[in-house]
Amino acid sequence: MKTIALLGATGSIGLQTLDVIRNHPEAFRLYSMAFGRNVEKAVPFIKEFNPSVVVVQDETAKEKLHQAMPHIDILVGSSGMVAISSASEVDVVVNAVLGSIGLEATLEAIRAKKQVAFANKETLVSAGHLVMAEAKKHGVNLLPVDSEHAAIFQCLNGEKLEDVNKLIITASGGSFRDYTRDELKQVTLEDALRHPNWSMGQKITIDSATMMNKGLEVIEAHWLFGIDYDDIEVVQHRESIIHSMVEYKDYSVLAQLGTPDMRVPIQYALTYPERLDLAVSKRLNLVEIGKLHFEEMSLDRFPCLRMAYEAGKAGGTATTVLNAANEEAVAQFLAGKIDFLTIEDYVARALDAHDYESFPSLETIMETDRLTRSQVRSYIQ
Ligand code: NDP
Ligand code: MG
Repeated sequence: MKTIALLGATGSIGLQTLDVIRNHPEAFRLYSMAFGRNVEKAVPFIKEFNPSVVVVQDETAKEKLHQAMPHIDILVGSSGMVAISSASEVDVVVNAVLGSIGLEATLEAIRAKKQVAFANKETLVSAGHLVMAEAKKHGVNLLPVDSEHAAIFQCLNGEKLEDVNKLIITASGGSFRDYTRDELKQVTLEDALRHPNWSMGQKITIDSATMMNKGLEVIEAHWLFGIDYDDIEVVQHRESIIHSMVEYKDYSVLAQLGTPDMRVPIQYALTYPERLDLAVSKRLNLVEIGKLHFEEMSLDRFPCLRMAYEAGKAGGTATTVLNAANEEAVAQFLAGKIDFLTIEDYVARALDAHDYESFPSLETIMETDRLTRSQVRSYIQ
């Protein structure tokens, strides 16, 4: 029996994690959960899973939850997430919170030597060198939840890193894969939120449409697997059946396949190195699918992907700025304040304005994150 702390319980990954826990009561128990302000959404799940501790984003949410459920133990904010991520009762921390807000909890979970099931890619993009140094120091494996990284992790299993030629990350292409640059000028929020293959949270759905999500994933792969940026390739694969691949020095290529269902990588990150049965929404039927397609990924067509490679190669605070600017710009797009193409403009402006520091401390990263967000907010005036 593994006890679980779930950060981001009310989100897309969080709810699918709860479904995995629900399906295997003999294997998992939810010890604690954290979410933001969405008390109404959380209450039925708190009743169902009966966690010992619940963490919310602020005092207002705490008061609201206390009104609804007076007998539960409620903690607040980043310190609350840190507390449940390092609690002695917890075996596995699932980090499915959205954005670089998950950084401190990730670091504390690693220091407490927890098994970390990791969805929160913004944390690795913002502070990959700190997170990986801490993981190495404490002998902790970050078990990827992101489907591409879960695929690569499985393809690397039992292999030597020095035998790897390159990683091949697949990309569905997002909501606008068949639009020209010109057509992108007209798109609406509603169009952008319509992802062809995956049902996900709003921010990552927009990131998929701008291709920033793939850029964040390239950086995430660089840190998780220690592979140079020049050896990480992105290929468009519209069916999202091959979740990613690894090419070895003998040119053998290993791939991991499955229908798009995030519960598969979530469950594997919880059970690794074991596997458990899972009633997937749909089993893979290759004959029914018939054909798989692969297309070149153009960095001109998707400047966010190009900026992510550039920031990744620059290293240090460059990726902190990339991530913070993107989080802020996407929030403005979701709030209806800016156009779709303004997202990439704001990220480019923030990167241009920044003087990079190569080996930033945690304090520098948090300060850079904060400053970048306020800078991007000022662009709109
Ligand atoms: P959602 O927006 O659906 O959910 C985000 C979760 O984080 C919610 O529970 C939200 O709470 C919580 N949250 C947000 N801000 C705070 C805060 N300040 N303090 C505490 N909790 C907070 O996101 P997703 O589930 O889509 O994504 C989560 C992470 O997983 C992201 O890093 C994403 O990149 C990654 N990921 C997601 C995939 C997917 O299929 N969705 C696939 C691969 C990776 P509330 O509801 O109260 O706001
Ligand atoms: Mg992914």
